[in-house]
Amino acid sequence: MNAEKRQQIFARLQAENPHPTTELNYSTPFELLIAVILSAQATDVGVNKATDKLYPVANTPQAIYDLGVEGLKSYIKTIGLFNSKAENVIKTCRILLDQHNGEVPDNRIALEALPGVGRKTANVVLNTAFGHPTIAVDTHIFRVSNRTGLAKGKNVDEVEQKLLRHVPKLYKQDAHHWLILHGRYICIARKPRCGACVIEDLCDFKDKQEI
Ligand code: SF4
Repeated sequence: MNAEKRQQIFARLQAENPHPTTELNYSTPFELLIAVILSAQATDVGVNKATDKLYPVANTPQAIYDLGVEGLKSYIKTIGLFNSKAENVIKTCRILLDQHNGEVPDNRIALEALPGVGRKTANVVLNTAFGHPTIAVDTHIFRVSNRTGLAKGKNVDEVEQKLLRHVPKLYKQDAHHWLILHGRYICIARKPRCGACVIEDLCDFKDKQEI
């Protein structure tokens, strides 16, 4: 795919949704960090249902740490992998209190050192809480990037590196949200809704669907 096409793809996604953001509910970097940890292999809707009850009770590292693993589990038990997530969140809160004055660090190395935080989670927090032009490649972005030809790659790291190289600077900050939302609602896994897609004529996918 050439640069002109990439530019047009993002111009159209931007025209459709000028201010894209995450569908996770949060009001502080800490709330976002915990929501993203909880969202691994779970839906944003499911995470929001849990955090909508948890955050009014506990939304700081100290308050969640004070709940303890069992106390936290009672709020998140509807979310997949809640046992290991509860343990990771409590350990993360302890590290934030001990090493970062209770604040979420604004740097990749410190974020990735937190239990339950990998590259994707760090990218989401750096982008959405701190305004860095990172791109967190999840299953949706991986699929959309490969189908459209925006950034073809065999694994998420390859796609991330290509997107970072090729997404026009103007669009890099929001690219991650545009591509996730496009994958979640239009370029869906089983049967992409090509007939409703604003970038259909720019997309290289060979097996487009009518609806
Ligand atoms: S045209 Fe179809 S395959 Fe291409 S991005 Fe749109 S929905 Fe996805």
